[in-house]
Amino acid sequence: MNTRRATLFDLIHAGAPGDPALIMPDGPTWTFADLRSQVEQLAAWLQHHGLGRGDRIAIALGNGPAMAITFLAAATAATAAPLNPKYRRDEFAFYYEDTNARALIVAPGESEEARAALRPGMILIEAALDATGRLTFTTTDTAGSPRRDGFAESDDIAMILHTSGTTSRPKRVPIRHRNLVASTNNIIATYQLSPADRSLCVMPLFHIHGIVASLLSQLAAGGAVVCPPGFDGLKFWSWVEQTRPTWYSAVPTMHQVLLARAERNAALIAAHRFRFIRSSSAPLPPVVMERMEAVFGAPVLESYGMTEASHQMTSNPLPPGRRKPGSVGIGFGVDVGIMDDNGQFLPNGVRGEVVVRGPNVVDGYENNPEANATTFVNGWFRTGDQGYLEADGYLCLTGRIKELINRGGEKISPLEIDDVLLRHPAVAEALAFAVPHATLGEEVHAAVVLREGMSVSERELRDHCARLLADFKVPRAIHILSALPRGATGKLQRITMAKTLGLT
Ligand code: ATP
Ligand code: MG
Repeated sequence: MNTRRATLFDLIHAGAPGDPALIMPDGPTWTFADLRSQVEQLAAWLQHHGLGRGDRIAIALGNGPAMAITFLAAATAATAAPLNPKYRRDEFAFYYEDTNARALIVAPGESEEARAALRPGMILIEAALDATGRLTFTTTDTAGSPRRDGFAESDDIAMILHTSGTTSRPKRVPIRHRNLVASTNNIIATYQLSPADRSLCVMPLFHIHGIVASLLSQLAAGGAVVCPPGFDGLKFWSWVEQTRPTWYSAVPTMHQVLLARAERNAALIAAHRFRFIRSSSAPLPPVVMERMEAVFGAPVLESYGMTEASHQMTSNPLPPGRRKPGSVGIGFGVDVGIMDDNGQFLPNGVRGEVVVRGPNVVDGYENNPEANATTFVNGWFRTGDQGYLEADGYLCLTGRIKELINRGGEKISPLEIDDVLLRHPAVAEALAFAVPHATLGEEVHAAVVLREGMSVSERELRDHCARLLADFKVPRAIHILSALPRGATGKLQRITMAKTLGLT
């Protein structure tokens, strides 16, 4: 590995000193020289206050340059543990204890719940940003005597993240600098990112997608990252107009919000062409991808990522490479295979569990020997996702193994049903799910949200499904709702749906 760029601190040395690195809409801009000197000073400050390599620092800050700089400083001095600032007190308490946090960083006057959950021995640090873009840390405490063991090295744990908790309790993932550097290099190669590119970071910076794709990859490519306070469908196009990003990455839910508001923003959309738009972290229904390309006039590249792989595993390529709606593309710097339950590789076209391997994949979960024993097999990581490889190496996902609906022994992919429902003109969002059934084991149900001003009967939706799906896949009931339940990063909560609707 190129040791010059083996840590996150090395990675922010990719840009020319005078070039913009972070841009805050309606706020200051940080050059790469500013960013480096602030990260270096703040990392030294943390070490001076007794926080060094091996220590975990919880961060509860909203999106923006202050969060980006704090994250980089914490990962350089010690180990960063970014948390969703919207958690409640008990959730913070769980994460502090689970990560063994020694400090918490918050903004002045904010994060009451995070502060209230502080554990004995943890110190509180406030990160204040002034109007000129200077970030300072203050504390009335110290975590111990100054640390003199130097900044983090390639093999150190840069951050602790938890998986999203979509299929079970969130699992703790220690991600090393070398994993992150490998992942950013893969993403740079996939999208040919350069100093001329600029990303708009709308994904939360407490989730692997935002940290690695939106922030680190673009910085490592020497180009700027626009850091607004988070996703906002109302402000998105004015940020774009003001800061001219060349791409953004988001989850399908966000793309759908932008599509729903496209008519109102037609002039701004027509005036701006992204080089590409990236979608990851949840399935992008082919109909949504097609609409996005037509409306936004840019190639939409779906990618497959997960926390344990430091985000990206596969992606559809840029043109002239072929992008296939419904496929998550090909591995870039990552080996991808399909395995059966006994660990045997399956031929092209046959469904099985997706397994991956590469320098971006972590060595194992922390403190979870059971999960490690079942998911890390012969150097491969079992993703828990089901899919198949096409002859040209494109990967198609058919669902999470835990989310497949088992109707009397017939395994049904809920994604296929979602996609059929979304093809109905009145349907804006769709989610098929399993409901316990006395004789079949599980029965298929679905929930939909209708487009504004549209109406349709359950009967008509079922007829629509029956025209496009085999009988056993047609949902026995379709629930028309005003919203679908989602996790913090916008993932649909399929597994708990039957319970949410009181159907169990
Ligand atoms: P947990 O592991 O705790 O159940 P999670 O798997 O949702 O939560 P993440 O690491 O945030 O936690 O998400 C990774 C998962 O997201 C993948 O395993 C896959 O199921 C899903 N995913 C990511 N990208 C895509 C995509 N493009 N299409 C379909 N699914 C995707
Ligand atoms: Mg997972």
